[in-house]
Amino acid sequence: MSTTAHEETLGFQTEVKQLLHLMIHSLYSNREIFLRELISNAADACDKLRYAALDNDALYEGDSELRIEIEHDEKAGTVTVRDNGIGMSRDEVIQNLGTIARSGTAEFLKQLSGEQQKDARLIGQFGVGFYSSFIVADEVTVRTRKAGSDKSEGVEWRSKGEGEFTVADLEREAHGTEIVLHLKKEAKEFADDFRLRSLVRKYSDHIEVPVRMPKVETAKDDEGNEIEGSEVTTWETVNEATALWVRPKSEVSDDEYKAFYKHVAHDFSDPLTWSHNKVEGKLEYTSLLYVPGRAPFDLYERDGSRGVKLYVQRVFIMDDAEQFLPLYLRFIKGVLDTRELSLNVSRELLQQDPKVEKIKGALTKRALDMLKKLAKDQEAYQTFWNTFGSVLKEGPAEDFANREKIAALLRFSTTHTDSATQDQSLADYVSRMKEGQEKIYYIVADGFNAAKSSPHLEIFRKKGIEVLLLHDRIDEWLMSHLNEFEGKRFVDVAKGELDLGEIEGEEEKKAQEETAKAKESLVKRVKEALGDAVQEVKVTHRLTDSPACVVLPEHEMGFQMRRIMEAAGQKMPEVKPILELNPTHALVERLEGAEGERFADLAQVLLDQAIIAEGGHLDDPAAYVKRLNTLLTT
Ligand code: ADP
Ligand code: MG
Repeated sequence: MSTTAHEETLGFQTEVKQLLHLMIHSLYSNREIFLRELISNAADACDKLRYAALDNDALYEGDSELRIEIEHDEKAGTVTVRDNGIGMSRDEVIQNLGTIARSGTAEFLKQLSGEQQKDARLIGQFGVGFYSSFIVADEVTVRTRKAGSDKSEGVEWRSKGEGEFTVADLEREAHGTEIVLHLKKEAKEFADDFRLRSLVRKYSDHIEVPVRMPKVETAKDDEGNEIEGSEVTTWETVNEATALWVRPKSEVSDDEYKAFYKHVAHDFSDPLTWSHNKVEGKLEYTSLLYVPGRAPFDLYERDGSRGVKLYVQRVFIMDDAEQFLPLYLRFIKGVLDTRELSLNVSRELLQQDPKVEKIKGALTKRALDMLKKLAKDQEAYQTFWNTFGSVLKEGPAEDFANREKIAALLRFSTTHTDSATQDQSLADYVSRMKEGQEKIYYIVADGFNAAKSSPHLEIFRKKGIEVLLLHDRIDEWLMSHLNEFEGKRFVDVAKGELDLGEIEGEEEKKAQEETAKAKESLVKRVKEALGDAVQEVKVTHRLTDSPACVVLPEHEMGFQMRRIMEAAGQKMPEVKPILELNPTHALVERLEGAEGERFADLAQVLLDQAIIAEGGHLDDPAAYVKRLNTLLTT
């Protein structure tokens, strides 16, 4: 019997209580995952010891055969998961099993409202980890000792999962960790040899560390009868115990790939797709990359966890090695195993190693190819796009060399479908281009409806020319880094001269010139009335239904980007728009016939309306309303 001392009872961090509550209520139908989580932790602990022992063999304490053991006691209703991995010190136990290790998870839980906390789907956004023990156990005991520490430095942790836990000193012979689950009445079924064996195979075939379970053998006499009292217990390895990525692709089933994903990604749901590659030659590495089926809560956080699990010649080196993939592919999860790096590589060293850049280039290509393949399955790709599309849109700015490839993976709303769902590719657009059309037209606005109803689209709709409707915050930034696709230039329909190229015939162009001439004096009067508020006034043929619109010079920053910069507190230099008038519109005709103050009011109202239609803000909205009302009543 071990002696325990220096006992203290501590409260769980508030967020742990929330997590426990959320988990127990939402994961009831998925109870068996507790075993996956505990085996996964035990395997990580073995990986960590193997890595630490590279420098200091003594840490093995003479026992370098890393393993996980699972035992059960049907009568007592317990299941025990044991490893001879790195173990934990008292401080680590308090930290790891009393708080939520990932700071992002705690933050995320803090923000959840009461209603949201009842939403079972939320739980899938983060790994449930050790605390999942309490889905099946009403009491959990952890006994552990850090490898290399004194035998007297063991720790016992106990909790009923109800808000507090107890830690006490423990004399412990073996290093590593043992977790005993005292099963709830309704979870006693897990204390069963057959059940446990099938779960181990389901969840840990891909783990390199052997998972062993006891097997009782009874000797038999010559007649085949069991000899009483002859039972011997031997340990039997239950899982395959080879690292999954080392096995040939053809021998790994989809289910195994999926199970492995859950282990590396700390995710709960299936991945959308994966790509497993073994590369030999100049650059040797094996990679297994996954596209998750849902976004982690910290996708847009600067210090959100990202990157691959790094192994060097099968030895685990680190989690979240973010140097091997660009930021715009930060949603990709997986494993990289390479012999190109040394075993004692650190995060700092990774930043300087030119081989890292090379592998990053190769993995980026793999990831983009994997997405290209995924795109063949429209439904799956749409899920991907809705989840990660706005991250991928960072790509052209970050990765100039791959921008054509990335462009082919983008999806848009367009006037072809007039749907807010972004599901049209640039290749789709190009295949529908009109005879004589040389450019890809787009508009950027703050929202889908603003884009869809912009006056700038009128001529395009009339002529049946498709326009991309961009309405994500990042879109203008994206388009400033995309110049062309398949040799076709991108043109913002709200900027610069409207040039429809070959689509318009000579006659049309001539007619436009004539109209412009005829309206010269009107244009001059409007410019005089508006003064410095506009850069220029013109007549236009962009419009069919609206009387006027504002246009920016071709190389000016667009309205959407300006508003984003201003919202971020950035002072933007003033830019004066070009006002374009629709010569065939009744209001413009009325303007032409007006004089004096009425003329000035009408001109100002047309300008203000054009700014509003663009989603812009008026400097003096009350003056606009007053002017409009005057015009309406006289
Ligand atoms: P995660 O595995 O995602 O970090 P868990 O909740 O599963 O989160 O575990 C929390 C932490 O507790 C781990 O990061 C690890 O430091 C520690 N831990 C859990 N189980 C073990 C174990 N068997 N051996 C050593 N440390 C462990
Ligand atoms: Mg874990």
